[in-house]
Amino acid sequence: MELNGITVAVIGAGYAGASTAKALSLLGADVTVYEQAQQAGEVGAGIGLRPSSMGAFREWGIDAAIEAVSSPSWGLQILTPQNELIHREEWPEKDDFGTTTHFIHRRDFIDALLSVLPAGMVKFGYRMTGIVDHGDTATVSFENGESVTADLVIGADGISSRVRRALFSDKPPVFAHEHAYRAVFDLDLIPGVYDDDNDFHIYFDAPTNRHLYLVPLKHRGQVSFDITVPSDDATWSPTVTREQIVASLQGFDPRFEAITASIDLTTVNCRSAHDIDPVDSWHTRSVALVGDAAHAMLHHQGQGANSAVIDAKGIADALRDADSIAAGLALYQERRKPITDEYQRISRAGWDADGLDDGFPGQHGTTAPKAAATAEV
Ligand SMILES: Cc1cc2nc3c(=O)[nH]c(=O)nc-3n(C[C@H](O)[C@H](O)[C@H](O)COP(=O)(O)OP(=O)(O)OC[C@H]3O[C@@H](n4cnc5c(N)ncnc54)[C@H](O)[C@@H]3O)c2cc1C
Repeated sequence: MELNGITVAVIGAGYAGASTAKALSLLGADVTVYEQAQQAGEVGAGIGLRPSSMGAFREWGIDAAIEAVSSPSWGLQILTPQNELIHREEWPEKDDFGTTTHFIHRRDFIDALLSVLPAGMVKFGYRMTGIVDHGDTATVSFENGESVTADLVIGADGISSRVRRALFSDKPPVFAHEHAYRAVFDLDLIPGVYDDDNDFHIYFDAPTNRHLYLVPLKHRGQVSFDITVPSDDATWSPTVTREQIVASLQGFDPRFEAITASIDLTTVNCRSAHDIDPVDSWHTRSVALVGDAAHAMLHHQGQGANSAVIDAKGIADALRDADSIAAGLALYQERRKPITDEYQRISRAGWDADGLDDGFPGQHGTTAPKAAATAEV
């Protein structure tokens, strides 16, 4: 369908909201993004943008903006805590998209995405507090007293989505009994570790279920770490002591232990890990969920941000292919939900000692876990 003249209100200016705004505005829709924060902000850590996401950026004509603040990577390594290689694998889907995974700092990523949106498209300081679905339009109200009615409302408001809770599911996020500690440090602090590669490194201590994920950000002279350890403290942003951080990597390569002993604690982002159960429906005739609002997943397969980008492409493609908004939203869910349901399942399963010879369980097909690809046919 033709999107010219269609009004779209996107709730949330994270990766999902910004990507969806870009994709739909390129099709001619009149898009406004409403973000609760007063300005863009992201924690200091790195993520990998998969070939499928890089392919979407190329299609939208924004690949140069992303490549300017990222570096290409060719594979993934699974190692013992003492830095001994168990398994190496190249990123899947490189050949399908003619590009590879790129590592990027989360802050640089959101800045790059927002920089390619037309001036004025994103309104900061708009916290959505209510939504009324009228059928072929929906009205969103904000804490500041304003409200807006649009032909299409996109709930891109993250794991605790108000849009999801109001219209689709009031089930709360599910605690994974894990903490994740994330920060960046200078590459010089781990001499030798990244001399020969630019791979994603997973150090896994199976007996204690502790993980150290390293994302090199060589273009910044930095490395991002994510330490994920078991914990029964479900506090959303737990207060963590230096002793806890040091203990989280005790017995790992001494270079990693040394980093935890000297790191500036104020730069470490501590989060308890949550996901959500699959939601039965993501859409009505005029409202749809994208990104974590639709399918927040644990971070063990690094697919949360990528799924947000591919949702944006998915909803734009589906609206273009359908003859009405309602039909487009149904098509979007039909195409995307089997895939993200499977990513949620795989991510929740985590790593186990018997599965360390496959760095990308279920991810070797084209943009889809194997099981989901089968379900789609
Ligand atoms: C520890 C950890 C590590 C991760 N590592 C990776 C990784 O390596 N690779 C990867 O792909 N993914 C990773 N992820 C997941 C990834 O961060 C998320 O999937 C991604 O941020 C989801 O983007 P989103 O735009 O859907 O949601 P969010 O990034 O949460 O953005 C939601 C936006 O909506 C706004 N908002 C919320 N409520 C309202 C409201 N009421 N009104 C207006 N605005 C609102 C918020 O302020 C925010 O800007 C990780 C996550 C965690 C926790």
